[in-house]
Amino acid sequence: MNQDVANTPPFLVFTDLDGSLMEHETYSIEAARPALAELADRGITPIFASSKTATEIISIQASSGLNAPFICENGAAIYGGGSESAGPIAVFGSRSSEWLTEVHDLRERMGWKFSGFADWSNQEVSVHTGLPAADAERARQREFTEPMLWQDTHANFQLFLEALAKLELTTLEGGRFISIQSDFDKGNGMKWWQSRFAEPRPFLVALGDSPNDESLLAAADVAVAIKSAKSDQLDPAGPQRLIRTNRPGPSGWNDAINEILALFDAAQLLED
Ligand SMILES: [Mg+2]
Repeated sequence: MNQDVANTPPFLVFTDLDGSLMEHETYSIEAARPALAELADRGITPIFASSKTATEIISIQASSGLNAPFICENGAAIYGGGSESAGPIAVFGSRSSEWLTEVHDLRERMGWKFSGFADWSNQEVSVHTGLPAADAERARQREFTEPMLWQDTHANFQLFLEALAKLELTTLEGGRFISIQSDFDKGNGMKWWQSRFAEPRPFLVALGDSPNDESLLAAADVAVAIKSAKSDQLDPAGPQRLIRTNRPGPSGWNDAINEILALFDAAQLLED
C-alpha cells in the first residue's frame, strides 16, 4: 500500500462483530452509531475481524454503510474492501474442503457427538444462530472454518483436539460455536494489515467479546473487552491499555470508543 502519511489514519480500529459491534441476539449495530460517526469524522472506518464468512461481511458492510477492508472466518483471509469479486488479498487458512471429510470420518469412527454448519440446512443454521434465512445461507458459504456445537464429554473433547492436531487442525471458541480450522487467528490478520502501512505505523485499537478475540486483543495497543457471557475469559497480556466495558454489545462498544477518543484527544492514550 505504502500510503502517504497524510492518508494514514491516527489509529486503526479492528472489531469483532457478534456480541461486540453487533448485538448478540438481534445483530443490530444501532447503539454504536454515535461512536461510529465520531470515528468517521476522523477518517476511521472500523475493520471487521469476524468469524463470519466473506459473503456475510460484505452484506453487513452494504447494509451498515461501513465499507472497509475486513478479516473473515477468524483470520483465515483478508479482503481489501469493495466488491467480493475482487477476492481475498491474503489467505492464511487451509480450506475446509481439504480436511472436513477427514474430520467427519473421525467423528464416525470414534462415535463422538458434535454437529456443525456442514451438517445443517439453512433453516437449522437459522435456528442455531437466530439469523434470518437469507443470512443463514450466507453464513453457510464457508471456505476455511467449520463452526460446531460439541455435544459430547469434556474428556472426549480433549481426545478430539489431539486427533485434530495430527491433521494440523485446531479449534477456536466464539460466542456461540467452536470453530474447527487450521492454525490462524484474528490477531495475525490485524498485524499483517498494519505492516502494510509506512512507518510510523498507526497504532491498533481492537474490540472483542469472546475467546476467539484473544489474539486480536493481545496484538493491539489498546484493547477493549466488551462485556459478554465469556468476556471474563479474556485476559490479553500485550496491550498497553485494556478497557473492560460495563455494557454488552454495541452499547459497550460505543462507550469504549468514546473513552478512547477522549483519551486520544487529551494525548493520554499510550502514556501511562
Ligand atoms: Mg463475538
